[in-house]
Amino acid sequence: MPPIYDKPTTDKYDYVVIGGGSGGSGSSRRAASYGKKVAVVEATPYLGGTCVNVGCVPKKIMWHAADLQDKITHHAPGYKFTGLGNPQFDWAAFKPQRDAYIRRLNNIYANNFAKEGVEFHEGFGRLTSPNSVEVKRPDGQTYTLHADNITVAVGGEPIIPSDDKIPGASLGISSDGFFDLTEQPKRVAVIGAGYIAVELSGIFHTLGSEVHMFIRGETVLRTFDPSLQEVLTPWMEKTGVNIHRKSNVTKVEGERGKTLTVHTDTGEKVEVDVVLWAIGRKASTQGMGLEELGVKLDKKGDIIVDEYQNSSVKGIYAIGDVQGKWLLTPVAIAAGRRLSNRLFGPPELKDDKLSYDDIPTVVFSHPPIGTVGLTEPQAREKYGDAVKIYKTSFKSLYFSMIEEEHKEPTMYKLIVVGPEERVVGVHLIGQGSDEAMQGFAVAVKMGARKKDLDNTVAIHPTSGEGTYNHL
Ligand code: FAD
Ligand code: NDP
Repeated sequence: MPPIYDKPTTDKYDYVVIGGGSGGSGSSRRAASYGKKVAVVEATPYLGGTCVNVGCVPKKIMWHAADLQDKITHHAPGYKFTGLGNPQFDWAAFKPQRDAYIRRLNNIYANNFAKEGVEFHEGFGRLTSPNSVEVKRPDGQTYTLHADNITVAVGGEPIIPSDDKIPGASLGISSDGFFDLTEQPKRVAVIGAGYIAVELSGIFHTLGSEVHMFIRGETVLRTFDPSLQEVLTPWMEKTGVNIHRKSNVTKVEGERGKTLTVHTDTGEKVEVDVVLWAIGRKASTQGMGLEELGVKLDKKGDIIVDEYQNSSVKGIYAIGDVQGKWLLTPVAIAAGRRLSNRLFGPPELKDDKLSYDDIPTVVFSHPPIGTVGLTEPQAREKYGDAVKIYKTSFKSLYFSMIEEEHKEPTMYKLIVVGPEERVVGVHLIGQGSDEAMQGFAVAVKMGARKKDLDNTVAIHPTSGEGTYNHL
């Protein structure tokens, strides 16, 4: 087993990072690669943070399970597979297997730290001065690590409304609780319309739970391009997700583990087995001594940083979810690595920083969404009449053999500006959009024009060729 440190091994480290998640790991390992003396303080015994433990990784595994269920139940018969019977997902048997995989990943993280010379200190980190971090170990003992450079990479946590605001709200779980479920609930209420609400509703529904989504607006994913919202929302409904529009939950009644009743301001009462809040996340900055030292937080509690990840106090930096912009694992890692390049790397990297423009992202809905750049409203606000839209909708070849009601939609949209038709936004929904997006993101980042896409010979037969042939 790789070591977990319980005291300092030097009077002064080159770098101390609080939080052993995506950003903290990326930044500390990069600093160690430059020969620096580095310590990471992590509050749990498990490295990898949200993404590895209660985020991207176990979520994507569950998405794959749901995807398989869809293929077996709705697609395989169209391809004349027989003898499948009625295979059902065994949630109770799958969960320990999924958990064991996550523990393996935790170990890989710890081993990488050990191999690369990053010390893993288990405990809650609190800043006691601009160059000292108090570590409170699980047994309550404390010690202090000193360094001139300290990065806060403590991520965030799900928001659950208080019982004062919404009586019974605490009867619900969050995405963290989703990963604790040992049995598949038969009926679920999901409150929210963002990434997590859409992804977890899709997983529950595709695996056979009755799902009720309570959304404040008319569509899911309201911050995404309107065309994506217009395709995904009715498709989710068509496949059987119950979407309760313009609905605010006013009360939850019942007993956890038994039947819960969700009350809304539209007068509805819906009975379910699990209520899941997916209404956003907040930075885990509480109790860290940040404001006492003059580290400025915004109204939401996120750490305010400049483009170089500097907080308002010299020598204290923040990366990842805790700084409130683009809550995505690759963003946290990239910002962390660049920060270490800048602080400890060779002279040519002394100005390194992450560009937060044109960050690609995927929503693992059914079907998935891939998007990069500006939405149509954002583009029109920025470029006015110079904006031109190319859009196509089609059914991918895969679905040609499949019953009409299970043929998933595909919609591709390009947003271009000016006479040279520079691509400023790409929005895809449909099978394979998740995998296709990385390549489009490179093109957008490089300033591709519509004609560059047209000049690239298509790959046939794929859905991706839709962007060249039809737009
Ligand atoms: P985290 O990974 O959250 O790490 C912070 C670490 O700090 C944690 O280990 C925590 O225990 C520790 N910590 C907190 N406070 C202290 C303290 N005071 N002292 C010591 N340690 C402390 N992103 C994607 O890119 N793709 C996805 O598919 C995706 N899916 C997601 C699904 C879900 C359900 C969720 C919740 C998130 C998902 N994300 C996804 C977002 C992604 O998980 C985060 O953006 C990413 O983990 C942020 O990394 P971070 O380093 O900022 O924080
Ligand atoms: P999001 O910011 O994506 O969505 C929050 C949702 O909550 C919005 O749809 C909003 O709906 C709704 N909402 C906010 N307040 C309330 C309220 N009081 N009552 C009802 N609904 C409310 O947050 P998530 O929690 O879904 O995810 C957090 C972040 O994690 C994401 O922003 C993303 O960066 C990251 N993530 C990334 C994933 C990926 O890369 N695939 C997957 C999962 C998470 P509206 O405003 O429309 O009413």
